[in-house]
Amino acid sequence: MSIAATHRSKRELLLDLVGKQNGLCAYCDVPLVTVGRNPRMATLAHATLEHVVPVAAGGALDETNLVAACWQCNRLKGSLTLEQLRLLVARIERFTALSTARTGG
Ligand SMILES: [Zn+2]
Repeated sequence: MSIAATHRSKRELLLDLVGKQNGLCAYCDVPLVTVGRNPRMATLAHATLEHVVPVAAGGALDETNLVAACWQCNRLKGSLTLEQLRLLVARIERFTALSTARTGG
């Protein structure tokens, strides 16, 4: 099933995913929708389509493998798998804890 078969546009798919995720990034819960005076004019300033399993790692191209994520998360995750991302975040947290302990702040 391709994106084109079920959705008219990437934007429509993105809107759909953002709606299913209550307007929040799939990874960090940052709000993805900026709503102006007219709710129909909601903008997706921060939302990107993100492949949960990278296409390079054999992930599907359809919406079973897509979430809406903020561009920061999308950029950080890049072509990592969720497991690789989890390990990276754990390393960053360990490093941050170590440097905080060292500086006493
Ligand atoms: Zn995010």
